[in-house]
Amino acid sequence: MQYHSTRDKSISVSSAQAIKQGLSDEGGLFVPESFPHVSLDEIENLAGKSYHDRAYFVLSKFLTDFTEEDLRKCITSAYTKEKFGTDAIAPVYKLNDEVYFLELWHGPTCAFKDMALQILPHFLTTSMKMTNEDEEIIILVATSGDTGKAALEGFRDVNGTRIIVFYPDNGVSEIQKLQMVTQRGNNVSVAAVKGNFDDAQNGVKKIFTDTEYKKLLDRNGFKLSSANSINWGRLVPQIVYYFSAYADLIDGGEISIGDEINVVVPTGNFGNILASYYAKKMGLPIRKFICASNENNVLTDFIKTGVYNKNRRFHTTISPSMDILISSNLERFLYDLSGCDDGIVKELMNKLNTEGEYSVPEPIKEAMQSMFDADCCDDKETMAAIRKTFEESGYVIDTHTAVAKCVYDKYVERTGDKTKTVIASTASPFKFNQSVLIALEDYNAVAGKDEFELLDMLREKSGMKVPDSLAELKDRTPIFNTVVEKDQMQNTVSDFLKVE
Ligand SMILES: *Cc1c(COP(=O)(O)O)cnc(C)c1O
Repeated sequence: MQYHSTRDKSISVSSAQAIKQGLSDEGGLFVPESFPHVSLDEIENLAGKSYHDRAYFVLSKFLTDFTEEDLRKCITSAYTKEKFGTDAIAPVYKLNDEVYFLELWHGPTCAFKDMALQILPHFLTTSMKMTNEDEEIIILVATSGDTGKAALEGFRDVNGTRIIVFYPDNGVSEIQKLQMVTQRGNNVSVAAVKGNFDDAQNGVKKIFTDTEYKKLLDRNGFKLSSANSINWGRLVPQIVYYFSAYADLIDGGEISIGDEINVVVPTGNFGNILASYYAKKMGLPIRKFICASNENNVLTDFIKTGVYNKNRRFHTTISPSMDILISSNLERFLYDLSGCDDGIVKELMNKLNTEGEYSVPEPIKEAMQSMFDADCCDDKETMAAIRKTFEESGYVIDTHTAVAKCVYDKYVERTGDKTKTVIASTASPFKFNQSVLIALEDYNAVAGKDEFELLDMLREKSGMKVPDSLAELKDRTPIFNTVVEKDQMQNTVSDFLKVE
């Protein structure tokens, strides 16, 4: 299986090369040349299989240049019971006869980014070995919260890699900050940047594009790489859990093989929902994709009208991991919908860059609307969805998952569609404990309480166990207290790597 660039399909690389490179040189994203087809018999066969076997089944169809031994090693190193607390890795929770939550947050950082970032480091080191790179990989990350911690956990103590994470001094939640500054591992570093997320992001971009600096690193045996969500190695593991969820539904007698399901995904960068679309392209019976957004509803408008316009107010919401105005993985979707037309994709992406807006041709819009539905909700509706779900069933969901649940309820009301539906549950409610508790109780209940008192309160209310990785933070001493000026980030990297 070869990979083409969405902006120049004459480019053709192996999966190891695509993963190592991250982004194609002319700015396009790597996509598989075709989608392997899976039969219903094969899908039925996945029922009763372990998550590891399901992952091998899906991943081996895309990473065809990996040996079976290497690929299995990546899978078993990433998805362990020790890290995920359950052999199921991504268990399905039945809410009622129509709604199932696919819990993607059992990993070490309590959010769904772990599903990809636990395995990406192993893909990367294997790809480096396969392409005869002997330099050490340096991962640079600017984070607004979830990605940084998930990348640190994924890369910690992985041989041949080091990771440096920059977060905005006053731009992450208390628990996110604690998670990062107490990070363990012999190859990790964390620094706060005086400024906001954009400052941290710009600083990292500057280091990435500084050719002189990259030469200096090269002379010292280091190669910069990125762990962000445009890397094929982050997208492909996400296809697995849609097959796994379907296999679980068969296993539990909830559906029969061949029955169509709907999926609802709380969306930001469009990676998670795109993975479900790719699963359908491979043959997984999915009828509708329901794209859920918070007040940053650029995707809702796009799916409804075919016009993508990022020139709008940015909203800070209680589902911060979806506070995004440019959904970078949409580029892969457009490439697919246009019948692999790299010319159109290039044109639209240029327009987005220069004008902040583009409009897709009619056939693309029609294809999109035949499969995708979209809606959005504000913070108040998100809170109401958390409360309603709890009152009806005693199940507690986080703010991101609640956006999806709210949009799903609106969809059913509008269409009457009773198809069995899998909702992607993307974070543990404990990770966003304050908003969840305000939804379940009120503002007064949380006033003056610290993070650990809130965790306890939520434990009592929900009857769920506080995830060990969050409970442990209480006794951890901060290791990283560096705060750097935004123009000093390169020095921080040099200090960590001891290059000059
Ligand atoms: C990143 C994230 C999302 C958005 O996923 P995309 O793949 O970027 O669309 C949703 N919820 C949570 C909790 C996240 O961390």
